[in-house]
Amino acid sequence: MKKILQEYSAEELAAELERFELKKFRFTQIFEWTQNYVPVMEMSNLPLDLREQLDKDYTSTPVSIEKEWVSKDGTKKYLLRLPDDNLIECVLMEYKYGNTLCISTQVGCRMGCVFCASGIDGLERNLTAGEMLSEVLEVNRHLGGTLADRKITNIVLMGSGEPLDNYDNVVKFVRLVSAPKGINISQRNISLSTCGIAPKIKKLAEEDLSITLTISLHASNDETRQEIMKIAKAYSLDELMGAVRYYHKKTNRRIVYEYIMLESNTKYADALRLKHLLSGVQSHINLIPVNETANGIKGISKERQTKFWEHLKAQGISVTTRRTLGSDIEGACGQLKRRYLKGE
Ligand code: SAH
Repeated sequence: MKKILQEYSAEELAAELERFELKKFRFTQIFEWTQNYVPVMEMSNLPLDLREQLDKDYTSTPVSIEKEWVSKDGTKKYLLRLPDDNLIECVLMEYKYGNTLCISTQVGCRMGCVFCASGIDGLERNLTAGEMLSEVLEVNRHLGGTLADRKITNIVLMGSGEPLDNYDNVVKFVRLVSAPKGINISQRNISLSTCGIAPKIKKLAEEDLSITLTISLHASNDETRQEIMKIAKAYSLDELMGAVRYYHKKTNRRIVYEYIMLESNTKYADALRLKHLLSGVQSHINLIPVNETANGIKGISKERQTKFWEHLKAQGISVTTRRTLGSDIEGACGQLKRRYLKGE
């Protein structure tokens, strides 16, 4: 398998390619080509023999768009092929203030949340930092973007996979994608969503990053949470919120919670418990209507969704309901790949 040039920062690339004994400006040229997502053989300001030598051992286009679906609401979903022929998904949401790309961090997932399609077949493998960066660069290229004129402004790590189960690669990715010499997406515009691996949240707090931490909370007590999320059996809400408070104290960043609305977790008592749970941390809850095409899981009526929203408001909790974007193209994690593989 060829090495992926996007694994390296500008500085690391020069060290990696040392044996080619190139003039300094060549490293800059090569780095810029990689960030513009141009194949090695098309790096037109490099001598042909250098391109040929590089091409033997390295690739600068490890991830490629296999298929694109466009939703009625404009959301775009991409199926991407990796060098080992595994497939991953990412979703592009276009807003007035910019384009948000939702990327995958693993092939599959081993967290086993009952409502999520990504975990059905378990974990296949982690993505490398360079592969995650290449998701961003490939979609940017596809949209006509370049290093100088980015078409992607925000990133959410909310596709397939659990980011904190692939910790080192994900942290490296965040540094690469926000590097000033690279595509330079501000860490403030990056959200990392986790099902709640408490010790890794504490570790992340020490990394000196300014990303937004998003917690897939989905319940207000341990009992309900354990019914829908395997991770809740490993870490209680007490432990999780302890880690979240630590993260908040260290980073001073507002914490966002995702909360899918089910029959079992949207009672008045849930609103009271959430108020208690989130106290002392600057918090925002994003209510998510269940995407029902996954695993036969059932959502609740619009009326009941509104009622729960009102309950939370009444507790003084900052809350919004997420627009369901792209539901006609299987917007929720892992659904599209399954459909594609089934030949639909
Ligand atoms: N593993 C991470 C990130 C990937 S999941 C995490 O758990 O946060 C991204 C978000 O989509 C999570 O909040 C997840 O719970 C939610 N999700 C998964 N399947 C869903 C479905 N069928 N309907 C609505 N949201 C879903």
